[in-house]
Amino acid sequence: MVKPFIAGNWKMNKTIREAVDFSNQLKNLIAGLDDRDVIIAPPFTALYPLAETLKGSNIHLSAQNLSDKAEGAFTGEVSARMLAGAGCAYVIIGHSERRTLYGEKDAVINAKIKIALASGLRPIFCIGETLDEREENRTFSVIERQIKEGLNNLITDDIRRLIVAYEPVWAIGTGKTATPEQAQEVHAYIRHLMENAYGKNIATDLPVIYGGSVNPKNIATLMAEPDIDGALVGGASLEIDSFIRIIKF
Ligand code: PEP
Repeated sequence: MVKPFIAGNWKMNKTIREAVDFSNQLKNLIAGLDDRDVIIAPPFTALYPLAETLKGSNIHLSAQNLSDKAEGAFTGEVSARMLAGAGCAYVIIGHSERRTLYGEKDAVINAKIKIALASGLRPIFCIGETLDEREENRTFSVIERQIKEGLNNLITDDIRRLIVAYEPVWAIGTGKTATPEQAQEVHAYIRHLMENAYGKNIATDLPVIYGGSVNPKNIATLMAEPDIDGALVGGASLEIDSFIRIIKF
């Protein structure tokens, strides 16, 4: 049984001041709550200030993206080592907005996962099908390809540090959640693929979290499914009340 893992992806929202205010409130409201892992993924600019704000708390930080290169002449990029130095423990990789708006392909995502792991960051590896792919009955083959190519050449010890986020693209930011049954079906398939590739123990211990219009009303039924270990929350993580209700589902 994996400890519930609740991560808030703030995307391109909140200034440093807004992020610090929110984090101070969150820290106080969930002090002592240690039966779940709580992560926030603010924009790059707020990472270091939040690392300072959250020192000694049970809240961990994630970046939303990183460079696939180690260092050098890559204007505008941020490296894994910089993120680790800023106090990040996790990094979201392969989010559908990166895949669709910025053209990130499986091979780049694979390179990002490797470089994140090499710097001690835990990747939150996002996968999921589009509406067209679901309607063409290609959900399972898309998931299989994303896992195979995204995790290409990783070893078992790498997989132990991974979190997989199933995020059906049609459910992200649309208010349209996958039903618990739809999500469970794909989560079970992900676990089955991971068991075939890396063995039963690794697959059982792997956190497989769901993302796509998670809110305080649907979190409990999603979390009641056997293969849903947590949630990656976008819009509903921006308001303290809704995020707290999700965390304390
Ligand atoms: C996300 O961006 O990862 C996400 C799931 O967003 P939302 O909760 O807003 O659908």
